[in-house]
Amino acid sequence: TRKILMHVGPETIDYDVLLGGIKGDVGFTSKEFVDAMSFSLKFLRKLMGVSESYQPFIIPGGGTSAMESVTSLLRKGDKVLVVSNGVFGNRWIDIFSRYPVNVKALKAKAGYYVKPEEIEEEVKKDHYTMVTMTHVETSTGVREPIAEVAKRIRDYVDLIVVDGVASVGGEEVRAEDWKVDVFLTASQKAIGTPPGAGLLVLSENATKRLGEDNIAGYYLNLKNWLGVMQSMEKGKASNFSTLPVHLVLMIKRAFELIETEGIENRIRRHEIVSSAIRKGIEALGLEIVAKTPEAYSNTVTGVMLKKVNPNDVLSMSLTEGIEFAPGVHPDLAGKYFRIGHMGWVNINDVISAIAVIERVLSKLGEPINFGEGVKAVQEYLINGI
Ligand code: PMP
Repeated sequence: TRKILMHVGPETIDYDVLLGGIKGDVGFTSKEFVDAMSFSLKFLRKLMGVSESYQPFIIPGGGTSAMESVTSLLRKGDKVLVVSNGVFGNRWIDIFSRYPVNVKALKAKAGYYVKPEEIEEEVKKDHYTMVTMTHVETSTGVREPIAEVAKRIRDYVDLIVVDGVASVGGEEVRAEDWKVDVFLTASQKAIGTPPGAGLLVLSENATKRLGEDNIAGYYLNLKNWLGVMQSMEKGKASNFSTLPVHLVLMIKRAFELIETEGIENRIRRHEIVSSAIRKGIEALGLEIVAKTPEAYSNTVTGVMLKKVNPNDVLSMSLTEGIEFAPGVHPDLAGKYFRIGHMGWVNINDVISAIAVIERVLSKLGEPINFGEGVKAVQEYLINGI
C-alpha cells in the first residue's frame, strides 16, 4: 500500500521536491548549485522573517549540527541559560557540557513549557551571554511563546537563540521583530525536504561575534562557513567542506513551492491541519500531551493512551498505511505516541490519520468514542474554520 508518513520528520515529501534533486551532473562549483544556494539563502531570510542584516547559513547535518554551531558565538567561561521543555531542550545541555561554558537550565514538566515570567526572573538574577529555547518541543508537541519571552529578556542577555527545528515553515516565525539573534531549523521538518542540512540565520550582533577566540571546533565553526555563504549568495562558487549538493537542489525546489503557496498560507494550512487533528483526537475521548491550548503546536501532537501499548498502535497503524512516531519523553514512556503534521500535509491526510487511529484503537481495545473522530474533523472542516 501507499504509505502516508506522519512521523516527526522526515514526513511524506512532495515528489516535485524529490525530483528537484535528481540530477546526475551537478558539481559543487556549478552554476546550477551556486544559484540554488543563492536563492535558498535569500529565501531562508523570508522564512525566518528577517531582513538583509541577518546572515543566513545552510550547513551539513541537521538540527543538531545547527544547534552545536552556535558555540561559534561563545567564549570560554560564558554563561548560558537553557530553557528546556523536554528531550530537545535537554539536548542543549548535553551540547554545552562538551564546551568550556557554564550552563544553567530551567526545565518544564512534560506537557508544559517554562513560563516567560520564570525566564525573566532568572536573567535578572544573573548575566547570561546566551539563552537557548525550543520553539516547538518535538518530544511533547509543546510550543514556547518565543515572542513574549524574547520581549521580557531582550535587555538582560546578549544573545537569544531559538531551536525552530519543528516550527520553521509551520509556525509563525518573525525572528527580527522578536529580536531573536539565532533562529535555526533542519531540512527534514516543516520545510519538507529530506534530512541532511541545518539552516540558520544570525543577527548582525551574532555575526560580529564569530571571532578567533570562539570555542567551536572546526567543522561546525560558523566562522569557517561565513565567507562561503556570503560568496554563494552573490552567485560565486566557494567551498569550505562539500555541501549536500543534491539536497540543496531539493531545498531550492521546496522554497519555490513555499513561495508559490505563500508563507502565511502555509502557516494557516498548518494551523487548520493541527486544529483538525486535535478535534479528532479529543472527540475520540483521548487526551493531548500538551496540557494547555496555548501550548498546542501547529506541527506535532502527542496523544495519551489509557490502556493499550503505543508500540502496538504504531505497528498496526503502519500496516493500515500510516506511520506515526513513538513517544520519546522519558517521563511519559509507554503512555503516548506522536502525530507529525508538517511540511506538505493536508486535510485529507488528517481524515486518513484520524480514521486509522479510530480503527486501530478500536481493534486493540482502547476505550474510545468510535465513529466520533472522523465526524468531528469533518464538522470542523465544514463549520469550524
Ligand atoms: N531540535 C528539535 C526540536 C528536533 O525536533 C530535532 C529532531 N527531532 C532536533 C533538534 C535534532 O535534529 P536532527 O535530528 O536533525 O539532528
